[in-house]
Amino acid sequence: MKQYQHFIKGEYVDPIGGQWIDTLDPYTGQAWARIPRGCAQDVDRAVQAASHALREGPWATMTATQRGKMMLKLADLVTTHTERLAEIEVRDNGKLMAEMRGQVNYHPEWWRYFGGLADKIEGSVMPIDKPDIFAFTRHEPVGVVGALTAWNSPLLFIAWKCAPAIAAGCTVVLKPSEFASASTLEYMALTREAGFPDGVFNVVTGLGHETGAALVDHPDVAKITFTGSDATGARIYAQAAKSMKRVALELGGKSPNIVFADCDLDKAAAGVISGIFAATGQTCIAGSRLLVQNSIKDQFTEKVAKLGATARKGNPMLPDTNIGPVTTPAQYKKILDYIDIAKSEGARCILGGGPATSQDLPGGQFVEPTIFTDVTPQMRIAREEVFGPVLSIIGFEDEAEAIKMANDTIYGLAAGVWTENTGRAIRMSAALKAGTVWVNTYRAVSYMMPFGGMKHSGIGRESGFEAIRGFLETKSTWISYAQGAPANPFIMR
Ligand code: NAD
Repeated sequence: MKQYQHFIKGEYVDPIGGQWIDTLDPYTGQAWARIPRGCAQDVDRAVQAASHALREGPWATMTATQRGKMMLKLADLVTTHTERLAEIEVRDNGKLMAEMRGQVNYHPEWWRYFGGLADKIEGSVMPIDKPDIFAFTRHEPVGVVGALTAWNSPLLFIAWKCAPAIAAGCTVVLKPSEFASASTLEYMALTREAGFPDGVFNVVTGLGHETGAALVDHPDVAKITFTGSDATGARIYAQAAKSMKRVALELGGKSPNIVFADCDLDKAAAGVISGIFAATGQTCIAGSRLLVQNSIKDQFTEKVAKLGATARKGNPMLPDTNIGPVTTPAQYKKILDYIDIAKSEGARCILGGGPATSQDLPGGQFVEPTIFTDVTPQMRIAREEVFGPVLSIIGFEDEAEAIKMANDTIYGLAAGVWTENTGRAIRMSAALKAGTVWVNTYRAVSYMMPFGGMKHSGIGRESGFEAIRGFLETKSTWISYAQGAPANPFIMR
């Protein structure tokens, strides 16, 4: 069984405490590798390496153009390792090879986009309203960044978090999820090959409340960027406040997919299925609430259920599998518990509704793609994030009711709208309290499009130009070139 090591200061090193954690293949249910169980001393070692790289040595003196070129080199290197990296992700999180291959293929675009931006972070010279003053702003790296990631797309999260951070000139200590750390550790060899100086990238693996908490508490970490559940996000936000860290949070959701009677029903049905059953529903943007106009509710429900029933469960490595296993035993139990809660609250199950068992599903962590109808907005299944393949269907009468229902949630990550009416599309996009609104499509992301949540779905945006701002501090410099007598010291200039 492969035994991984932390990656600190350009080297793979054993954990100081000499402890490892088994990492399981969700399809077989068997341990396939071991990752270090990092302690506070490991975290301190990594943060010191990152701090040192930030202050001294080649990274500190490198030009932004040189940084950008290194990022482009990393992008090219990733393209030569796509298959291997995607396979590791599938072994760790059980998501489909087709999906993970697609993500790793697309991942270099973040390095290219932000690599190109590295030397375009410009300050301003101000036409300052004071005599004899030359005033300008500059944008400096915020410092050492602690990046904590979730298990569902570890490599994509490296790109989303590290590409803007590195373009800004920061150094990074990553703490991937204990359920899917292997790909992040393997990836570090590529950063070394691309020429990044020691200490610019570091990875410490381990448990959230041990390794993750030590990273959030570390006094030399300037910013935490986190992807995970809202419960952990809130804990981290409170903890980080004690040392006044900058914080960006990418959290969960209960996203509505809103289907109007005037849409193309076949396209909408495909979008709804993709929103909830792709990645076995284990995505932050899962469209787990289907709000459908009452006049087409029965017809559309039947269409969605029919399409959902065609989803093939199986080995995530195989190209014709649509639904892979659930990633962790705890998540598997949570999904089944929510299915029971929905039934006990009076929702009607029209597809699936329990564990999926057959000889082709050896590991046991499979859930049937599940659809509930007769759901009311007050039921827990309509309000809480399940993070699994469970869809709730709720009817609405008109646009106003759809908006009210869609926004009646603590979350605000994403929303889908299906309509052929352009005016309605624009009105809905303005009225929905969500960081992303997709109209007649769903689950699309891009390196150039800001992504993030409103309300309990998070703070800050990843991707797009504005993501880089989150890793910069603005400094204002005033230089007096006044001649003659000193200014009056008792009044503000
Ligand atoms: P999680 O909150 O359990 O863990 C996320 C990370 O935080 C892991 O690395 C974990 O080890 C660490 N962690 C846990 N407790 C910690 C603590 N006390 N201090 C510091 N670190 C700690 O989330 P998960 O189960 O890995 O991921 C699923 C969640 O992530 C879902 O809620 C999903 O919606 C969300 N998510 C959000 C996005 C987004 O971009 N908005 C993307 C993917 C997943």
